[in-house]
Amino acid sequence: WESKIEGKVVVITGASSGIGAETARLLAAHGAKVVLGARRVDRLEKLVAEIQEAGGQALAHAVDVTQREQVKALVDAAVEHFGRIDVMINNAGYMPLSPLAADKVDEWDRTIDVNIKGVLYGISAALPRFRAQGSGHMINVSSVAGHLVFPGAAVYCGTKFAVQAIAEGFRQEAGPTIRSTIISPGTVDTELVSHITDAQIAEQIKGYMAIAIPAEAIAQAILYAIQQPPAVDVNEILVRPTAQT
Ligand code: NDP
Repeated sequence: WESKIEGKVVVITGASSGIGAETARLLAAHGAKVVLGARRVDRLEKLVAEIQEAGGQALAHAVDVTQREQVKALVDAAVEHFGRIDVMINNAGYMPLSPLAADKVDEWDRTIDVNIKGVLYGISAALPRFRAQGSGHMINVSSVAGHLVFPGAAVYCGTKFAVQAIAEGFRQEAGPTIRSTIISPGTVDTELVSHITDAQIAEQIKGYMAIAIPAEAIAQAILYAIQQPPAVDVNEILVRPTAQT
């Protein structure tokens, strides 16, 4: 059961912090060539330097996943630099959380743009490459919020339910040589909650964060999915803190 990750070219959106950054570190340490996308390029460049110092291969590329052409350019950069793309990880996400009655319509728009359109643009950019190569692996980061709805999270949950549907549709249509994995984290200790502008929800979320697990727990799940042989498609992994109900 040899490792199936060495030399694979893996594009990761949202690689400037949290789950994306930790996944880049772990995959690169296992021999993957990682292409890191996010808006904060300074952070990406620091991470590239860190990975290279440790003997790994990495490339930083600025991307706003709400811009279709930029996501295509990210994948094009990966192929230009490393010759192909084996895995696309649509990980970038935004979770402002607020009750619908707070009417934060701009935040709803942005949540949909990042969490749904960002995933679709990732699929649009990578799928033609996968088909041309005859193989590929699409990994979409959903959430426990793609399975359950809770107060204050209607829009965020809506976007993650959409990711579940899109990823399953992708799996059914992709054909026998292209894999589709949904990664659904529970509470993970990252910067995600820092975008909450609703004071009451921001206070409530502190209680949830007390049980958060490190981003490396999710990176390990992504590594597992990639490492399986080509005929094995890990369709979904749900990872929660043991203390999460
Ligand atoms: P972070 O806030 O630490 O990371 C989010 C990443 O997304 C950052 O790298 C950010 O980069 C990037 N991002 C946000 N908007 C854009 C954009 N428009 N274009 C490009 N990149 C963008 O949070 P997490 O690591 O926790 O989030 C990663 C994924 O995990 C998300 O999809 C999230 O929904 C999901 N998740 C997280 C959970 C948790 O408890 N933390 C639980 C369940 C799911 P930059 O700002 O530099 O562009």
